[in-house]
Amino acid sequence: MSKKENTNKFKASWTYDKAPESTDHIQIKKQYELFIDGKFVKPVKGKYFDTTNPSNDKKIARVAEATKEDVNKAVKAARNAFKNWSTLDGKERGKYVFRIARLIQERAREFAVIESLDGGKPIRESRDIDIPLAANHFFYYAGWADKLEYAFPNKKPKPIGVAGQIIPWNFPLLMAAWKLAPALATGNTVVLKPAETTPLTALRLAEIIQQSGLPDGVVNIVTGAGETGASIVNHPDVDKIAFTGSTGVGKYIQKATAGTGKKLTLELGGKGANIIFEDAAIDQAVEGIINAIFFNQGHVCCAGSRLFVQESVADLVIRKLKHRIDTLIIGDPLDKNTDIGAINSKKQLQTIKNYITIGLNEGAEIYQPKCTLPKFGNWCAPTLFMNVSQSHRIVQEEIFGPVLAIQTFRTIDEVIEKANNTPYGLSAGVWTDKGSKIFYLTQKLNAGVVWANTFNKFDATSPFGGYKESGFGREGGLHGLYPYVKFD
Ligand code: NDP
Repeated sequence: MSKKENTNKFKASWTYDKAPESTDHIQIKKQYELFIDGKFVKPVKGKYFDTTNPSNDKKIARVAEATKEDVNKAVKAARNAFKNWSTLDGKERGKYVFRIARLIQERAREFAVIESLDGGKPIRESRDIDIPLAANHFFYYAGWADKLEYAFPNKKPKPIGVAGQIIPWNFPLLMAAWKLAPALATGNTVVLKPAETTPLTALRLAEIIQQSGLPDGVVNIVTGAGETGASIVNHPDVDKIAFTGSTGVGKYIQKATAGTGKKLTLELGGKGANIIFEDAAIDQAVEGIINAIFFNQGHVCCAGSRLFVQESVADLVIRKLKHRIDTLIIGDPLDKNTDIGAINSKKQLQTIKNYITIGLNEGAEIYQPKCTLPKFGNWCAPTLFMNVSQSHRIVQEEIFGPVLAIQTFRTIDEVIEKANNTPYGLSAGVWTDKGSKIFYLTQKLNAGVVWANTFNKFDATSPFGGYKESGFGREGGLHGLYPYVKFD
């Protein structure tokens, strides 16, 4: 029997049984309202939109669509709440933030299931990464609330006022935590808008916020589409905008806020370089490549979507990579064995498909595992592109899906030049046995975060953010407090 036949026989005899996470403990309402001034209220114009499960196209719930009038109400509530919240003793503010963290932990299973239902990500990721990290973020910033004078010695930090926060669909609860926790710890009040396709965990968070006893109006959550976001950005009584999303919308927001005195932080797209040197531990690096690009279906701003492999080990790495993606399990996000879940929306699936066509038309060589994709819902097989060059669009542009562009290099200088040659500058990864190489590359790579012998690791204590078209400002760590304070 040939080696290939042997592998196929082995795979066929090792299929996994289904291991779906139960949804019995989840109660999802038929209809969700806006969370304004501590209460759930109907939208002024009575408009609603559906949120659907991307793995089967079934409607999950109806969600209120906030118009300008609702945003006005939310900003007014946040402004009214600001006086008492901003002057509350830091120790007391910290207790509320801590309470929110504890409540997220208590209801972690519920959050994980809703996140996977609404967004399509594998339950393994929402359960082990998104939700614990979200709780962690609140815990971490709860600790800073009464220590701001130590964070900024002799500077007398003051909260800015009302913060408008707009978040995307790839890490819905985690992005809400990244935005809310530092804003609350520093004494700001908030109007937050979740993404249209993934509003449910933010609305569950609103229930927790109510339960925590946080004073009314300190956090307001308005659901809706881009127009709702634009109403927040353009509202004259908003003092700060924090945005995570596409570079295109980020540019629009930068223009809209220019000259208004509004403070701004932008966390935008990326095209991360993952660099494998010949002296790396190759099997670990292959696992790292998989995690870098296929984590969360590649819907990750800091994904390692460009792979650079040193020429001497390129054949070996690509062979092992192909072998590894053949074993990835694609399917039901609620199944605990699933590696790759559903693509978040039909629109995003179309974007990814267009890029795959562009890659083929540009002459790149494609590799996809032979897998059967589910009949309903939005699915994309993990995809490798070989024989690509710097000028290819699949190398330059953010695809935001499970598509990896692979290039080779010979020298360190060559790979630094290639890695830095994109409009983005968010993340990079370096795989080598040599510490000196790691330190050299971290200095030379234009990226806000550089991982060494790992990828996609996040921690509340560590700042995250970009250069160039990946945006500006940092979230996480002590640095994450800066965007929410001003000094006399
Ligand atoms: P967007 O930038 O459009 O969405 C991000 C958030 O901004 C959402 O809440 C969105 O609302 C809101 N928004 C949209 N238009 C406006 C506006 N004019 N003013 C204020 N807020 C607005 O990303 P998309 O969902 O359209 O994704 C497109 C591409 O963006 C992806 O393919 C990917 O490349 C990139 N992206 C990057 C992310 C990152 O983390 N860096 C995250 C998400 C996307 P709504 O959802 O209701 O449209």
